[in-house]
Amino acid sequence: MNDWKLPWEGGCRCGQVRLKVTAPPMVTVACHCNGCQRMSGSAFSLSILLPSDGFQVTQGDPVLGALHGPVRHFYCPHCKSWMFNRPPGMDAFVIVRATMLDDPSWFWPFIETSTREKLPWASTPAVHSFEAFPDPADYEPLMKEFAERFREGFNPRGKAPARAPGA
Ligand SMILES: [Zn+2]
Ligand SMILES: [Zn+2]
Repeated sequence: MNDWKLPWEGGCRCGQVRLKVTAPPMVTVACHCNGCQRMSGSAFSLSILLPSDGFQVTQGDPVLGALHGPVRHFYCPHCKSWMFNRPPGMDAFVIVRATMLDDPSWFWPFIETSTREKLPWASTPAVHSFEAFPDPADYEPLMKEFAERFREGFNPRGKAPARAPGA
């Protein structure tokens, strides 16, 4: 039994842009970097790394925002919600803001990044913490571990596991 209950739908604050997810996450992330703090208006951003072919914009035309740099950040043209990113040179992946989902209740971050920049009180249940961003080479084992641990969905649903010893 697969507990992911795909597909998932989501959308921006105003509803003009709608999304659909048809593939399970490859990894889930909380990012504490200053950029995410500014763009999210909060202590950290919450992201789902997905294969591009498991993600669709089903309504509306997201526009580029934020730094307009190599990482393309897509926003709703009307309400300006930050919805997803496309990382440079990695067309196979898309990074979707978890809280755009209509039901983000299952979400918790498996990894957290840029903890060096985190607000002193901000903590997450992430199993792996990185002071900055993981090296590209770190992602493959993380995705492998994620796939093995959560083959059938996050279980128990919506609850993070106990932190791994020594993590
Ligand atoms: Zn909108
Ligand atoms: Zn960030």
